[in-house]
Amino acid sequence: MNGPVRAWLAELAWLPGLGVRADVLIEAAGGRFTAVSPGVPAGDIPDDLRAVVTRLPGLTLPGLANAHSHAFHRALRGATEVGPGTFWTWRERMYQVAAALDPDSYLALARAVYAEMALAGITCVGEFHYLHHGPGGAPYADPNEMGRAVVAAAAQAGIRITLLDTCYLSGGLGPDGRPQPLSGAQLRFGDRDGEAWAARAEGLGADEHGLLGPLARAGAAIHSVRAVPEDQMHPVVAWAHRYGAPLHAHLSEQRAENEACLAAYRRTPAEVMYDTGVLGPRATAVHATHLAGRDVELLGGSRCYACLCPTTEADLADGIGPARELAAAGCALTLGSDSQAVIDLFEEARRVELGERLATGQRGHFRAGALARAATTDGHASLGWPDAGEIAAGAIADLVTVGLDSPRLAGATPATALASVVFAASAADVRHVVVGGEDLVRDGRHLLIDDVPGALAAAIRPLVPG
Ligand SMILES: [Zn+2]
Repeated sequence: MNGPVRAWLAELAWLPGLGVRADVLIEAAGGRFTAVSPGVPAGDIPDDLRAVVTRLPGLTLPGLANAHSHAFHRALRGATEVGPGTFWTWRERMYQVAAALDPDSYLALARAVYAEMALAGITCVGEFHYLHHGPGGAPYADPNEMGRAVVAAAAQAGIRITLLDTCYLSGGLGPDGRPQPLSGAQLRFGDRDGEAWAARAEGLGADEHGLLGPLARAGAAIHSVRAVPEDQMHPVVAWAHRYGAPLHAHLSEQRAENEACLAAYRRTPAEVMYDTGVLGPRATAVHATHLAGRDVELLGGSRCYACLCPTTEADLADGIGPARELAAAGCALTLGSDSQAVIDLFEEARRVELGERLATGQRGHFRAGALARAATTDGHASLGWPDAGEIAAGAIADLVTVGLDSPRLAGATPATALASVVFAASAADVRHVVVGGEDLVRDGRHLLIDDVPGALAAAIRPLVPG
């Protein structure tokens, strides 16, 4: 294999099929793991690796996958937390930020947000990207300039990205069931129709495997039944099939979305997406909060992923979705930071279980290992990186190490380390991050972007008045 040989000795590592093991010697070359050997004390490290081995105190996990992100929403953190309102009033503030961005400011903001994600142990992000065009909807000279800014931002922050290029055509379903025209900031999201979306997505220039670069791939998204009329969904589905690409969609985040969909189509959003061929093993239903009738059966039977974003769903007062029923029906669960209310996948993971507890009055729905799988293996697969998200020979060499010496985690043992991290760690406990076999975060410092808080503040201040 090409590339430098790397080796790490993890005090503890979470390994597929084995759970947490001690003294795990992890070797990599050419950006992939070549050998993973538990139970190798430091004194037993082969001589040829001794000079290159890096010790990783704490619990080492595969890199985390953030399966649903809108990077620019990060500018709203703290700005919308006071006062009454709903998802719909929050959305007006979000549109104000969307209206203010251009390719340069979008790049600067997304770069800083992805650096914040890297510091939180996220090595792969699914960016649900719909801010395509200039003010009023005028295309840039390169109609994919905003998408390319997002991909460049991830490269500069050192993380993997799946650009989920989003089809967004209408401003909602009217009382008569007809799609409403786009207005205001929404004009920047829209392509003329599904075919125009596909032509623009084609212009991204993905190779036959959907790759846009060594750490970037293209995927597709249907914003929601609110934003894409049923008869315009097919070109998006066809494009995703052609590239074997992930296909994501917001689904039943809001009750009002369900009501409008029932009025327009006499079917639920899940039924519309099922009937149009959106749902399938490469698809992800984002939120899936307000499901009814046979929705769970359709989602589970199609083997699509269900991406839960519990901190956003709580922040926006969306509701608590049926995570247990979805998992039991056959949906692998994934996690997303969505509106960036916080960027902490440990928080998202535990809230899946804690939400179930609050909703049912019972404990013990999801074990720590199942929640960790959502944050790693299944998250990566849902973003088109099925060979990432596991510490195993042959897999992409992405790692995150969580220190167990913080006040939150001190006292964890090998037997309790995974549950301690999933149920009590914060993003601030992440010490080291490796992407493609190369260090990205060392001792809590981002190696490519020296001052991440400074970069965030500089990008956000011009966008949020006051
Ligand atoms: Zn979203």
